[in-house]
Amino acid sequence: MQVLKFGGTSIATATNISRVLDIVGNAARKDRVILVCSAISGCTDSLIRIGEGVIHYQDRITELEERHQQIITRLFTGVQRDEALEECRGIFDQIKQRPPVTEAFGEILSTRIIARKLACDGIEVQWLDSRKIIIKDNLEATYANIASAIDNRRAVRVFVAPGFIAGDGNGRVTTLGRGGSDYSAALFAAGSGAETLQIWTDVPGIMTTNPKDLPQAYTIPRISYESAWRMAEHGAKVLYPPTVEPAQKAGIKINILNTFDPDNAGTVVDDFPGEKGWIGLSRKDDCIYLITAGNVDKDSVRSRINGVLDRSCIFWDDIQFQDGIVSIKVQADHQREALKGLHKEFFELEPNRTRRIFIAGYGAVGKSLVKMIGDTSRIVQHNSGKTLRIVGVSDSKRYVISPGGLMPWEVDDALASGSDASGEAFCRAITGMEPRQAVFVDCTDSETIYRQYEALLEAGISIVSSNRRSLAVPYEDYARMKTAALHSGCFLRYETTVGAALPFLESIAMSANSSDEILSIEAVVSCTLNYIFSSGESFKDTLKKAQSVGLTEKDPRTDLGGRDAMRKLIILAREAGVHLEEKDVKIQPVLDESFFTGSVEDFYAKLDKADLHFGRNQRFVASLVKDPSSPLGYRATISVQTMDESHPAYWLHGTDNAIIVRSAFHPSPLVIQGAGEGAKVAASSILNDILK
Ligand code: ADP
Ligand code: ASP
Ligand code: MG
Repeated sequence: MQVLKFGGTSIATATNISRVLDIVGNAARKDRVILVCSAISGCTDSLIRIGEGVIHYQDRITELEERHQQIITRLFTGVQRDEALEECRGIFDQIKQRPPVTEAFGEILSTRIIARKLACDGIEVQWLDSRKIIIKDNLEATYANIASAIDNRRAVRVFVAPGFIAGDGNGRVTTLGRGGSDYSAALFAAGSGAETLQIWTDVPGIMTTNPKDLPQAYTIPRISYESAWRMAEHGAKVLYPPTVEPAQKAGIKINILNTFDPDNAGTVVDDFPGEKGWIGLSRKDDCIYLITAGNVDKDSVRSRINGVLDRSCIFWDDIQFQDGIVSIKVQADHQREALKGLHKEFFELEPNRTRRIFIAGYGAVGKSLVKMIGDTSRIVQHNSGKTLRIVGVSDSKRYVISPGGLMPWEVDDALASGSDASGEAFCRAITGMEPRQAVFVDCTDSETIYRQYEALLEAGISIVSSNRRSLAVPYEDYARMKTAALHSGCFLRYETTVGAALPFLESIAMSANSSDEILSIEAVVSCTLNYIFSSGESFKDTLKKAQSVGLTEKDPRTDLGGRDAMRKLIILAREAGVHLEEKDVKIQPVLDESFFTGSVEDFYAKLDKADLHFGRNQRFVASLVKDPSSPLGYRATISVQTMDESHPAYWLHGTDNAIIVRSAFHPSPLVIQGAGEGAKVAASSILNDILK
């Protein structure tokens, strides 16, 4: 079962209701749904005034009835419209009597309309009367009522229930308090044993502060039940505080989502064991609250707050620390100014100088990068004035995002208790945050992660990649990523993909961009094969050695077949302006086809028999040579070549890489050579791309 709750703004007009129906329809295709709705926005306020009999209350009734009639007229046609209008009239006849708890009718109106519309759309739907099911202050009865209401109706796909309203156990109608529909939804979720509880509202989740007070507020992607409760209890209206407890007790995550941006991952509220640092700012009555997780150094926090408020000449009375909450009493007319200063101090991380780093892939390279960011922070700050803050990390199973930043040594633990998810969910959570000055680093070897690049760039996030699979994609996809980078003003850098930290791409781009004509590129870029050839020893023994030191992929044949070299050649060629595709590259693998079938053991057995030897003077060369007779104007080949001492690549050692570029401006070739492999070298190259 899934419980989806929509607030007043989400259903305020017929257009908004149509969005809601789309979201509910999609959910209902996956599993059964209990749909809980508020009254349309402003309705409860009006009904309370009507119930109180304020002057002109009849005008309020007319206005409210017209709003509902307009929604019905837009949603329905023909007989269905007449029937819906008739029912609406009946409900307003009761409202006009101004019965006790008049405000209970807002949710009845909205849910009757929505249930009717779902039924018209052919969905098996059942309206539930929350006044009889939710018994205020009696969880046992409430849960039993919910279970029997849904168990008795197995064929129903979508249950629709009014939020906010309940019974008092003595047959009278009551409410759960203002904002109480969130709580209704949590009760329905716990009572039905739901897997999902989604609170759909008009903002993308719980944010660092109310975005209506401060546009700089941004979404908190994950928050613990305790912190969510603290934010809510101290003024973050986005969640009604009592909602947390039933969900937490039942172990149900709460996902807070934006009806007007349904792809945004919003906020997930769950146990979040590793939660740390500053969570958010709320305000209520005459206080601003800084919500924190874990211990804080009181003296340092006090002095930071004093500093902020002093600088803005704001008067404050008192700073108190209690249960992870710092409260600051500030005069009402200074609160926004104070909020702005405090948000900047605790949540904005010196906007122009801090780069927020998201790292996808936490293998050898990702780990080296995390460590290097920690080790070099002082030098980086001194030389470039920039601070790098690791804000998110993912491995193949989990991800963690901590808007306040993670210290390098915190990453392992934080990731271990991170959210279960794929790289795609990590990327969606990042774009949902719309972080400024952010860099997404792809240290994975994923074949598919590149599909997220465009959305990341469009969200204003720069990309640094060491994953050559992401760049050696069909040219059309490559060009789209480049265009997205150009339009967003963000960078897409990937120097590490060929020759690790050697400036191959930069040098080729420089020639290509300066109207120099590239005549040929010879790239000796296979670390494994360079290692084997330059050793001059038996092919099989050296290959085994290479495999044992982690130089080859699990199946070493992947390195011998030439695909990796092909990817590198594609990336190099495109940097030179040549739109090379896989099909344009002619590969002559090191070994003939028969070696590429069967298991790795078979392969080594075959090698034994073949007893191959290559000379020190041989190299596996990927080359791009100007050739006016080819359709692209260039010929691309990958093959083993024998070279003499006059060739620069003859002198390569171990896993070193080299490129030799001949161009119209450079009659004697440009040669770049050096270490082509190693996690540290790759991390330093990534760091260089981030800081360039
Ligand atoms: P709904 O009608 O969907 O229940 P509410 O009006 O009750 O919506 O709550 C959503 C509102 O909460 C937002 O429009 C926003 O102005 C306010 N809000 C206050 N604090 C926060 C916060 N920290 N994060 C997000 N929204 C907040
Ligand atoms: N309609 C009720 C209110 O405005 C309940 C809710 O929206 O959650 O308080
Ligand atoms: Mg609400």
